[in-house]
Amino acid sequence: MIPVPWRKIKSWDCVECGMCCKDYHVVLNFGEWMNLVRNYGVESTIPTVSKLLLGKKRDGTCCFLNQLRGTHICGLQYMKPLACKIWPFKVFDSPKFGSSAEALFRYRDRDFFVYVDPACTGLHWGRPVSEFKHKILPEFVDVAVGLRKNQLYSTSKIQFRPSRNPFRGRTVI
Ligand code: SF4
Ligand code: SF4
Repeated sequence: MIPVPWRKIKSWDCVECGMCCKDYHVVLNFGEWMNLVRNYGVESTIPTVSKLLLGKKRDGTCCFLNQLRGTHICGLQYMKPLACKIWPFKVFDSPKFGSSAEALFRYRDRDFFVYVDPACTGLHWGRPVSEFKHKILPEFVDVAVGLRKNQLYSTSKIQFRPSRNPFRGRTVI
């Protein structure tokens, strides 16, 4: 789907639907790929000619996705790839998908251009509310540019408890 500028979004709140862990391929950087291979084996990834991808189960879902009482929980909480951490947002230093005025986000004395994948079911459409503009979005930008690792506002509110990863049956944390 074509990304839309952040100013069209009232707020965002992950509803743990798991759609993004089923319908998309997660692209890994080399460091992320190495970490996964060391911890879970090369079969947890899909190396292709042009990209390194996160592995999938036979049903097409991410091999680290856990289902729990109707919700979906990531089993890679402390090793989550950057692409997963900032989904559904996309942060650029130029207006890559147009609508520059609506995508512009001035933060930390810099101009960022932030877009959102409209397929995410956790989006609420409308005029951005204060919490979204001043807490959620800045945290996504900080994570995207590497200034922050831990996520408070930019992740699901469901409380993660140590669980067993279904992929290889080993404890994740
Ligand atoms: S980020 Fe969006 S698509 Fe992914 S699980 Fe949360 S609500 Fe669903
Ligand atoms: S690593 Fe976690 S967030 Fe990323 S696709 Fe897999 S289950 Fe979803």
